[in-house]
Amino acid sequence: MTVVAPDLNTSRSLLDLTFAELERELITSGLAPVHARPLWRALHRDLHHELTNEADFPPPLRRWLAGQLGAGRRFFLEAPVETADIASTDGLTRKFLLRLADGQTIETVLMGFKGRHTACLSTQAGCAMACVFCATGQMGFARHLRPGEIVAQVHHAQAALRAAGREGLRNLVLMGMGEPLHNYDAVMTALEIISDRGGLNIGPGRITISTVGVVPGILRLAAERRPYHLAVSLHGATDEERSALVPAGRRWPLTELMAACRTYFGQTGRRIFFEWTLIAGANDSPAQAGRLAKLLAGLDAHVNLIPLNPTDGFAGTATQSTAARAFQQVLQAAGIPSTIRQRRGIDVAAGCGQLRAEKRGAGSAAGVK
Ligand code: SAH
Repeated sequence: MTVVAPDLNTSRSLLDLTFAELERELITSGLAPVHARPLWRALHRDLHHELTNEADFPPPLRRWLAGQLGAGRRFFLEAPVETADIASTDGLTRKFLLRLADGQTIETVLMGFKGRHTACLSTQAGCAMACVFCATGQMGFARHLRPGEIVAQVHHAQAALRAAGREGLRNLVLMGMGEPLHNYDAVMTALEIISDRGGLNIGPGRITISTVGVVPGILRLAAERRPYHLAVSLHGATDEERSALVPAGRRWPLTELMAACRTYFGQTGRRIFFEWTLIAGANDSPAQAGRLAKLLAGLDAHVNLIPLNPTDGFAGTATQSTAARAFQQVLQAAGIPSTIRQRRGIDVAAGCGQLRAEKRGAGSAAGVK
């Protein structure tokens, strides 16, 4: 089957619309606003992706869909194609490779924890931030995702869980491919859609946005009082050490970044998560932990320590567990809580920083299409 990419100049994805926008569209077409709810539910709660056979839709809504939805019409339905579903041998992690309408591919990771699931979403195809140890950064930037392409990843993960008879999705982390605050508007629209109670209903308190440290984005989140959790990737506590790993550190130095974090905390009162990828001999000494503790003094902070996952383009190795614990103890002595992240899905390249949208890994090949 050849899939013709919709013309985005004339056609919009139904999944790009917030509830209010959908309601407005229907009203503009002469429908009553009450028709928005059943359509929204079919899309975002029941995950119907055809909408040609909705017997319980009122006739005006069915007529509207017949006239407005489809090739060459005003709206189309987002349908990323799953090109691979790769399960890690840990039995808890699955990685989906999704091909978008224009042929770009992205990855979505589903992680099982006790009694709950977390999906890790991509916000861009590729990434412009070029962090040296990250596979997505190594591949470069292709394009921003639209809101519907972010929402569709949640649909996909949710549908996969339902098909497996598993419990629904509880948490979302925007830690897949891309820099969420470099695609601010699309990400905020997507999160508004995803957290809507009549649809996917994943509350804002269960959503974490992870940023490389885009200062204007952090300040905007604070000013707009966005209700999501924030994680900031540090990896270095001096500008020199940080910028060697995270080039964005040259654009937004630590003094500016930490000032933005303090403003964010002042406005929202919410604890901030800080991510620190532990790389042997690069940023894992007790002295470096001490500098990190100083940087975070007075903030309500939690540090996530992530032992480096291997990528082709970076030669460093992960900090061993004894050194990781020593690093953690320095933080603890300074009163800063931290967690050493468990490794997930490394065998299928589904770990932090390993996403580069290709079929690789030793996982269950049966899932590769
Ligand atoms: N652009 C966002 C999301 C990135 S992925 C950000 O920069 O925060 C989430 C976390 O994984 C980030 O802290 C990122 O720096 C980290 N990471 C990237 N590559 C990694 C790797 N190879 N091993 C371990 N962590 C990595």
